[in-house]
Amino acid sequence: MKTAIRGQILSFQGNPFTEPLEDCLYYEEDGLLIMENGHILEVGSAVKMLATLAPDIPIDVYQDALICPGFIDCHVHYPQTEIIGAYGAQLIDWLNKYTFVAEQKFSDKIHASQAAEIFLKETLRAGTTTASVFCTVDPTSVDAFFEKSEKLNMRNIAGKVLMDRNAPDGLLDTPQTGYDQTKDLIAKWHGKGRSLYSVTPRFAPTSSPEQMEMTGAVWQEHPGTYLQSHISENIGEIAWVADLYPDRSSYVDVYSHYNQLGPRAIYGHGVHFKEDDFRVFSETGTALAHCPTSNLFLGSGLFSIETAMTGPNKVRTGLATDLGGGTNFSQLVSMNEAYKIAQLAGYALSAHHAFYLATRGAAAALYLEDKIGTIAKGYEADITVLDLKATPIIDYRLEYAQSLEEILFVLMIMGDDRATRATYVSGKRVYFNDRDTGKEHFAEL
Ligand SMILES: [Zn+2]
Repeated sequence: MKTAIRGQILSFQGNPFTEPLEDCLYYEEDGLLIMENGHILEVGSAVKMLATLAPDIPIDVYQDALICPGFIDCHVHYPQTEIIGAYGAQLIDWLNKYTFVAEQKFSDKIHASQAAEIFLKETLRAGTTTASVFCTVDPTSVDAFFEKSEKLNMRNIAGKVLMDRNAPDGLLDTPQTGYDQTKDLIAKWHGKGRSLYSVTPRFAPTSSPEQMEMTGAVWQEHPGTYLQSHISENIGEIAWVADLYPDRSSYVDVYSHYNQLGPRAIYGHGVHFKEDDFRVFSETGTALAHCPTSNLFLGSGLFSIETAMTGPNKVRTGLATDLGGGTNFSQLVSMNEAYKIAQLAGYALSAHHAFYLATRGAAAALYLEDKIGTIAKGYEADITVLDLKATPIIDYRLEYAQSLEEILFVLMIMGDDRATRATYVSGKRVYFNDRDTGKEHFAEL
């Protein structure tokens, strides 16, 4: 059955960091978007399209709103939902004190399912329709996540964490069990509906060289699957990796040596990357997830989005929340903090560029730019509707906005999950914040 959405539509069809903005930006002041079977059938001027549209097609009309592609979160940990905002530690202490404690509960299926449900609801409320998700070492945590994600028909990427050292016993696998469980989970979930599997070594310090070897192998044996991990987040972490892998010339070289770089490999952070690290990522087609709220919250450092997107060695980079090191589900908040991080380095990240990084740019980082992240004919119908009157102060402030760019910038600096009016997944409205009644509606999951 065909359905439609009408309102202001904004999307990117190219990369504004490397191409002229007017070639990249798609904007329709009074647009119509027709959907069928989870895909976008047509998009264009409402007035023109309504002239020929069958009168019985239901249309959701949004006034004072901006219809854009569903946000994409390139790096996030659903089991850490319960420890968001945990005080006082930097990366390694934070892992030991909070993360590894929380993650041990996820062998309990009921606990894992409840956490997955809360996580996905918050994701939809934030207008995010795809995420690349770390589960825990226990395969139960992966089943719990994908079962819930599948109910919503979301295009999510997720995987079981691989970890055989430097963590509590309850969170360790072995090179062999990690390999076997990963293989089983790929068979079970990769390509089932819209689900995609990611081989997920937590990071080099928590895997032995044997496990790193087998992790690279299992990924290479399954073309089309993803690999996600962490890199160069924190100064102490980098020194630890140098101690643990004395034969390798750099942190990047560790992952390179174990065949974990390439298309569909995405690494969180890269905060302390040198030009040579960007070069290897660029040449191998490996992607980075920029996690601004996490990098600030954990005191990790300031990532250079300017170098990644405009330097001599460009790397596919998307925005990410990295919850629970990150502090907010909303990618608007990630944009806000990314702007401030760039400002500290003397680079002004425009609203257009920031929106690109959370939509089409994030899709490109995940090699999904032909499927999601753009509103255009043939794309999967994952859509977010942002409210231009989300809060009294945003409403007031936007009375004084003089351009689309200014509206976008105000939204990303002042907005959060309150700005989500509706979220569509695969053509179906799965979240709706009804301004008339003040009530929120979620699809069942
Ligand atoms: Zn992370």
